Amino acid sequence: LMHLTKKLIEIRTMLLSIDQSDSLKLPSIVVIGSQSSGKSSVLESIVGHEFLPKGNNMVTRRPIELTLIHTPPSSDGSVPTEYGEFPSLGLGKITNFTSIQKVLTDLNLAVPNAEAISSEPIDLRIYSPHVPDLTLIDLPGYVQISSLDQPEELREKISTLCDKYIREPNIILSVCAADVDLANSPALRASRKVDPLGLRTIGVVTKMDLVTPDQGVGILTNNRYPLHLGYVGVVAKSVGKTSSASTGTVARRGEDDYFSAHREFFGPSSSSSGIMVGTDTLRRRLMEVLESSMASSLHSISNAVQLELEEATYQFKVQYNDRRISPESYVAETVDALKARFREYATQFRKPAVRERLKGMLDERVMDIMEQLYWVDKRVEELGALSADAKIKTADDMDVYWRHKLSAASSLLTKSGVGRDATVLVADGLRALIDSIAGGEPFNHHPRAAERLVQFSHAILRDRIGMTSDQVENCIKPYKYEVDMDEREWEVGRTRAVELFEKEMTMCEGKLSEIRKKVGGRRRLSGLVGYVKELEEKQREKKVRKLKGEIVDVDEQEDVESYRYPQGQILDARHAMLYGDRLATLKLRLAALKSKRCKAGPESDVFCPEVFLNVVADKLAHTSTMFINIELLDHFFYQFPREIDSRLIYDLDRKEIIEFARENPIVRRHLDLQDRKDKLEEVMKQLNSLSTLRADATPTPRRQ
Ligand code: GDP
Repeated sequence: LMHLTKKLIEIRTMLLSIDQSDSLKLPSIVVIGSQSSGKSSVLESIVGHEFLPKGNNMVTRRPIELTLIHTPPSSDGSVPTEYGEFPSLGLGKITNFTSIQKVLTDLNLAVPNAEAISSEPIDLRIYSPHVPDLTLIDLPGYVQISSLDQPEELREKISTLCDKYIREPNIILSVCAADVDLANSPALRASRKVDPLGLRTIGVVTKMDLVTPDQGVGILTNNRYPLHLGYVGVVAKSVGKTSSASTGTVARRGEDDYFSAHREFFGPSSSSSGIMVGTDTLRRRLMEVLESSMASSLHSISNAVQLELEEATYQFKVQYNDRRISPESYVAETVDALKARFREYATQFRKPAVRERLKGMLDERVMDIMEQLYWVDKRVEELGALSADAKIKTADDMDVYWRHKLSAASSLLTKSGVGRDATVLVADGLRALIDSIAGGEPFNHHPRAAERLVQFSHAILRDRIGMTSDQVENCIKPYKYEVDMDEREWEVGRTRAVELFEKEMTMCEGKLSEIRKKVGGRRRLSGLVGYVKELEEKQREKKVRKLKGEIVDVDEQEDVESYRYPQGQILDARHAMLYGDRLATLKLRLAALKSKRCKAGPESDVFCPEVFLNVVADKLAHTSTMFINIELLDHFFYQFPREIDSRLIYDLDRKEIIEFARENPIVRRHLDLQDRKDKLEEVMKQLNSLSTLRADATPTPRRQ
């Protein structure tokens, strides 16, 4: 039947890992007692080793969930080694009990002094052929006298913690010292509150050697505080210090000597006198009580587990349609999705798209150059008139002035650092793409992976930018000297230039109407503009007079006048005038672009610098695209998926994979429910096999 306890202890451990709710708890033995009552000594004599933290002021600060697992000798008769294990710390098997003591001491010391007590249990399992199958929970000892270093608050904390553990279905081991009046035992007081009849409380009276055998018997048979499960007297004083300090083994000889020396009072060690003494008796008693308690919990725990399992199964069906996942599959799916997403986005970086983007950048540059060299030129109207002039047949007849202008404009464009700018433009596009992937689902849940993704992709780009820029710059070099173009290219450029001018005009008109709306209508704006022009005229006159050496008075009236409109509106009027002028120029140039002269072909380049520059820009975009494609894009698209494999996942171990998957709350919930369901299923299976076991053990009446 010992088999049952062992099995149930296993089940209890599994249940604890499922959740901490009381409904899923199998009973355990909870050890309570006041400080120095000999609680540690009792536990150590049950285990047969000294392993609990000792020393001045060294009290248990966290509950210790102590699971003892009896390891039977193997079939060849060899005795298994004893060892301890802290499952949540991952320290492996610890065969040296002094090391276990050290770990426990460290865990205790890790509780901040301000807190003094932590309710977070320490899980310790001890495997040994010398221990019974038992689960014991060691709790901080009750503080009896409040002193400076153990204030009232600590006292409260300890009793709250103990109260939590002495609830049903746990068995209470109430430790009291024989030399202290039982009436003063906080442990008995606490247990009587929750278990007045002592149906699940065992009293342990320590330090039997400190009272006369007579008194000892009196305490054990005491009728003032009767416990249904009775009292056990022990002498648990550790003599390890002198006899076997090196092995840490607790010698029990002292106890045996004591009780056999007073046989006339306590009877033979396995007595039937009703008086229970000795650690061996205590152990047996604990095993019996735990076993029967567990057996009687079996039915209710089976029901509770069954209910939980049904609920989990239902939820798993409803929420996830029974779809199972694993951290590994999640990682693999994430990586696949990332690559697929990237491939999809990569179409944005095919050659035509890149060329379009570069052309856009260069178009703007062309417009800037036009503005800088032509539109602000007072003679620009002349250019239109000249092109219409019948006497000027070819560009060769043109003024050298316009010829110079054109070659200056062309130089500005070809020498504007296109190699670097084009490369950076494309690289920035890639960076923005990666950043948006890293910032979106599911990488928003995986900040560290997202950061790595960004880092290595930026690194690939950084590595290539310099070289690519140089290559591109090199390849567009010929255009810095001359650009050949044919009729067809010219016509394409002209059409494009017309489009751009129309767009520019629309933009200017838009701005103008915005200003109009802002100042309050067309009439109001022309009033404003008229006024500003007047002001400007006056200022000009003043300047001229000043230049002529005349003394100019500060005309008060005029200064006041400038406040006729708010300053902001005057500024608006000035802007409106600029846009107006710009529109006039654009209209003129647009007409030129649509004229016969511009339609004639490349020989009209001097008349139509817009078209010429547009064709140059197109060639620059084309050439840049080719080399950026080879040097930057091809390389990046080759490298990126490989880096994902090698830097994002292949160096993750199992623990990191689980961590990664659990970062995503949706996946975490899925895994948690799945895990819970699996564990409950396993527990249910074990519980079922236990009941069949028990059913087999009960003799069934033979049928007639
Ligand atoms: P805890 O604070 O309740 O864990 O108490 P300990 O187990 O540390 O014991 C307190 C003191 O009482 C220690 O000095 C022990 O050696 C001593 N002690 C424990 N059990 C006995 C016993 O049965 N007889 C005697 N004489 N001393 C004991």
